Amino acid sequence: MKLQRTLKKPVEVQGIGLHCGAKVSMKVNPAKPDSGIRFRRTDLAGKPEVRATLDNVINCIHATTIGTEDFRVSTIEHLMAAFAGLGIDNATVEIDGPEVPAMDGSAAIFVFLFKDAGLKIQGSPRRFIEVIRPISIEENDKKVTFLPHHSFLVDFSIDFPHPVIMAQRFKAEITRKTFEKRIAKARTFGFLKEVEMLHKNGLALGASLENAVVIGDQSVLNHEGLRFSDEFVRHKVLDIIGDLYLLGAPIRAKVVAEKSGHDLHCKAVKALMAARSAWRYSDSFVGEATVSRWHRDIAPAGAGAML
Ligand SMILES: [Zn+2]
Repeated sequence: MKLQRTLKKPVEVQGIGLHCGAKVSMKVNPAKPDSGIRFRRTDLAGKPEVRATLDNVINCIHATTIGTEDFRVSTIEHLMAAFAGLGIDNATVEIDGPEVPAMDGSAAIFVFLFKDAGLKIQGSPRRFIEVIRPISIEENDKKVTFLPHHSFLVDFSIDFPHPVIMAQRFKAEITRKTFEKRIAKARTFGFLKEVEMLHKNGLALGASLENAVVIGDQSVLNHEGLRFSDEFVRHKVLDIIGDLYLLGAPIRAKVVAEKSGHDLHCKAVKALMAARSAWRYSDSFVGEATVSRWHRDIAPAGAGAML
């Protein structure tokens, strides 16, 4: 049986919000078992708090925003991905502004800080959301499919009609090691052409070459270039890992994503939660016993190749 985890001690960081452009201070505190990931606005009266679950999502067009009628916290996805990737179940994030700091546009700094603080094993079992029937949601040419699988695997493909990106595909089983080494460092990206339009809408006000890969007509504008030749699709994987953590528990499924973004990810999470016969809670250890049970009880005919 796997047990829940939190941080051993609080970590603090300051930075600029990617969209709001404001300087924010953030402190991530350890939290009790079964409390989940919560965000608290320390700059507002009463220090209101909200749990990072699907029910509390209020917008996910350009970034994932949670909150209530009275307050919001936006661009939570890279921090959520760091929690999911390191297997942190419980934490309270205190923040003195409306947006999680962008740092370098990836989850690398959060991962570094969490590892530096250390992780504490807690007494309660981890509960997984195990997909037991295929389910998919699509919109125009974008699609997200959940398939039964004994672990968490993401297969993401993108296809941007731009010479720097074009078609990219990244497929990996998401373990702590894969996440740290191959995904956490991938930065968010944007097109220089779109910046003006985003600014008009009050978005990307804090974006710079320090916290995003900026793409010009023919090339990447950042002097240091890319961190991976396929950094763009790896960042999409980072985004979906963060968005899927809004389920409130780690997922056990093969997730096939085609050209999707935060908006469809949130709709997919909603569709999965609503399709109650497509998943179940499970606290079983992912080992031989689970794999053989997966074959016996869950696997569709011919699914052996998926392992
Ligand atoms: Zn992102």
